[in-house]
Amino acid sequence: MIAVLKNSATEDQIKGLINWFESTGLRVNESHGEFCTVLGLVGDTTRVDIEMLRGLDIVESVTRISEPFKMANRKFHPEDTVVDCGGVKIGGGHFAIMAGPCSVESREQIIETAKAVKAAGATLLRGGAFKPRTSPYDFQGMKEEGIKLLVEAKKETGLPIVTEIMNPDHLPLFEDVDVIQVGARNMQNFELLKELGKTKKPILLKRGLSATLKELLMSAEYIMSEGNENIILCERGIRTYETYTRNTFDLSAIPMLKELTHLPVVADPSHATGKASLIKPMAMAATAAGAAGLEIEVHPNPSKALSDGAQSLTFDQFTDVAEAVAKVRSIL
Ligand code: PEP
Ligand code: MN
Repeated sequence: MIAVLKNSATEDQIKGLINWFESTGLRVNESHGEFCTVLGLVGDTTRVDIEMLRGLDIVESVTRISEPFKMANRKFHPEDTVVDCGGVKIGGGHFAIMAGPCSVESREQIIETAKAVKAAGATLLRGGAFKPRTSPYDFQGMKEEGIKLLVEAKKETGLPIVTEIMNPDHLPLFEDVDVIQVGARNMQNFELLKELGKTKKPILLKRGLSATLKELLMSAEYIMSEGNENIILCERGIRTYETYTRNTFDLSAIPMLKELTHLPVVADPSHATGKASLIKPMAMAATAAGAAGLEIEVHPNPSKALSDGAQSLTFDQFTDVAEAVAKVRSIL
């Protein structure tokens, strides 16, 4: 349920109303906009007397939110959420490019890539340390050692780091990680989501392989309902009957999600297409469609990559993509 308060409501009156809601066991989420204050009520609102609330002097309107996602709902929080990722902001007009290899493979590889993507305009470094591979016989990532190398690359370049978690027991290893990625395969790992909700870390939540947007938002809700509102949603393609591309990039998911939620939405054209040649047009399209950022795989030598080589860009290709994206942004 959301209560929009009148512009004339004083701070004391707002505080009084919030205290009263909280005394009935509800959690209150405040959103102070330019023209009004919106109170989002979470919990069992069936006992709230809606007519009584509407009758209060300071209340402009009261609406029940019919969608099952409440805290992620834009009605609940009309202003865009801005997520601070180790000093780099995403959302509310702030645009970020997260770039780096699919997997961290060695010190040289990650440091060299971090320097190259930074020079080309990336604002965060990505790299997988724990890898969710379809085959148990494929490279599973450098694990803890991979995270240490990412932290070294951060020290060397100043780029905040993004890396994927697969097991909530690994959380202590992510202390120095700026953005924790939840991969497509774990989008509905609810125990993992709940644990991440107890942290304050920014979470990059990727859309599941065949997840609807509602399911993606419900997964965000799992994290938010535990207290962590620092979530970035990521469209990374969905499974369809098409086989020329690895997945089908759902471009319309970007503006659709932006209507439904205040959370920043970024796009990953690498996993969405699986093909290096398609990254530039899709990165430009995602930017034009309103994405708050991009996640792109880059490797010093894609043909030698231990994972996702076919979709990884060389440093020169990434530079070209970053320039094209900057041009699109300049005309938006
Ligand atoms: C990745 O970012 O390397 C990854 C595995 O992505 P996804 O979960 O979207 O497949
Ligand atoms: Mn990958």
